Amino acid sequence: MPVARSGGGLQASGFRAFVAVSVNLAAVGVLVAWQRQRRASSGRRVPWSATARGPAKWSGLTARFTGLPAAAGELYVRPSSMTFRRSFLPPIPEFSEAAELLSLAADALLVDDLESCGDLLVRADLKPLREFSYLLAGPINPEIHRQSHNPVFTPVPKEGRPRMPSAARTVEVFARDGYRCRFCESKVIVKDAHRIFARFLPVEARLGDTNDANHFGLATLTATIDHLVPYSRGGDNSETNLVTACGPCQYGRNRWTLDEVEILNPFDYPPIIDKWDGLTRLLVLKSKAHAVARRPNPSINTDAAR
Ligand SMILES: [Zn+2]
Repeated sequence: MPVARSGGGLQASGFRAFVAVSVNLAAVGVLVAWQRQRRASSGRRVPWSATARGPAKWSGLTARFTGLPAAAGELYVRPSSMTFRRSFLPPIPEFSEAAELLSLAADALLVDDLESCGDLLVRADLKPLREFSYLLAGPINPEIHRQSHNPVFTPVPKEGRPRMPSAARTVEVFARDGYRCRFCESKVIVKDAHRIFARFLPVEARLGDTNDANHFGLATLTATIDHLVPYSRGGDNSETNLVTACGPCQYGRNRWTLDEVEILNPFDYPPIIDKWDGLTRLLVLKSKAHAVARRPNPSINTDAAR
């Protein structure tokens, strides 16, 4: 009927006007959010020495590792479909490659094959691991951290609160977690493994004072203790607040809570327990490694220590 068609036309044009107004309102909302992000995005992370060097050197890494556009941080508006994840980013393949090479290097060292050990250490010195670490632990990237600035909070006083757990509890936590990062599930190694490698092969196992001076594989895979509730925010050293973490996962979260960066509580899923020992099998060489270090020039007396 003509009247009915006419009425339908009026309804359609009214609907189109409603849609146009809605789209405009949404655009204004996005613009306001973008301006807020711009004002807030001046935050810088504190603990990582490389941060001061700035992001220019690593431009393009975001796209390479995440598939997300590089330098998109300022325009970031969190998509409503985002959900909690296990880690900031999935580990790149170099994590498992380095773990495998370092395991072979450990086996070579245990049978005094320093030449093979040195070759394997050099192959495990994978620079992409350093770049990946920088992506997580360098400047804040809202695409990765889902935050645009450091958390604002009143620090909980330190008095009477030990910063880190005892050595015994640290060992227990690493073993409980299967010597794996409880966030990205990468295999990790104990710090003493790096020290022991470096006593026998100081050039190949680079143990330095800066991020770039350290062996990229050994440093990135070195196990750390992570406080689920950050220490500065009142987290304690009870077993239920501590998990094993790789370097990037540990330093990437800094002082944010898990909820603030939308990362799942790792206690919600089980650890991977298998034969991976975090290279603790190298600890039998500790006293021998110390003997190497006591020599006047360890770099030329390594062979004599065998
Ligand atoms: Zn990790």
